[in-house]
Amino acid sequence: LVVMKDVDKHYGELHVLRDINAVVNRGEVVVVIGPSGSGKSTLCRVINRLETIDSGLITIDGQPLPAEGRALAHLRADVGMVFQAFNLFAHKTVLENVTLGPIKVRGLSKVAAEKKALLLLERVGVADQAKKMPAQLSGGQQQRVAIARALAMEPKLILLDEPTSALDPEMINEVLEVMVDLANDGMTMIVVTHEMGFARKAANRVIFMAEGEIVEEATPEQFFTNPQSTRAKDFLSKIL
Ligand code: ATP
Ligand code: MG
Repeated sequence: LVVMKDVDKHYGELHVLRDINAVVNRGEVVVVIGPSGSGKSTLCRVINRLETIDSGLITIDGQPLPAEGRALAHLRADVGMVFQAFNLFAHKTVLENVTLGPIKVRGLSKVAAEKKALLLLERVGVADQAKKMPAQLSGGQQQRVAIARALAMEPKLILLDEPTSALDPEMINEVLEVMVDLANDGMTMIVVTHEMGFARKAANRVIFMAEGEIVEEATPEQFFTNPQSTRAKDFLSKIL
């Protein structure tokens, strides 16, 4: 589904992605882990073209990423993104947050979009919050709305960039449960997270990044029990 070939990116002097080669197949859950500043968020952001790359090629379904216009809007709809800080539209209700994209980008009627949104809000367990404003929700609830909003576009793939790291501990599990459900449902997901429980339960593969490079790629079992590189061993010894 996603193919990255020889992808390079700099921010000025800083080489943030170095010769990234990666494939994410349909239905796969790939967990990306690595130290702060290793390029995990940048990796996510180049896949839905929130950032451009300097060289290399990224394709989705065999198509190079579009640069602009309607095609770019469709790419962003096809590649859902959930961020660390919930990023809901603050001045729209929960329901409007979930219906806006489908109406604007997918051309759904308001009635159809609302019907679909309510089903998705139900699925993530916050249907009773539909009329509220985001600020009236807990962090865990907001993040579940953000997931419902991404799902409403019927994305081919969802990128989740540290979706639980801004949450209070008691809210982490409710979001992880929704993510595990999605994974079991066959959703293709790239998840930046240090939640090893999630990785072990749901990931097909773990990609370990350091200094802009993919240093290791393995099953969760292999990676956590028998990391190959010194950098991965060091990193794991700090977080486990
Ligand atoms: P964290 O775990 O802290 O979220 P990360 O692995 O997601 O880290 P990135 O956010 O991808 O790392 O950043 C990689 C490097 O690029 C970092 O050194 C960061 O400071 C730098 N960087 C990120 N965004 C920009 C930007 N817009 N302009 C300049 N430098 C940036
Ligand atoms: Mg990051």
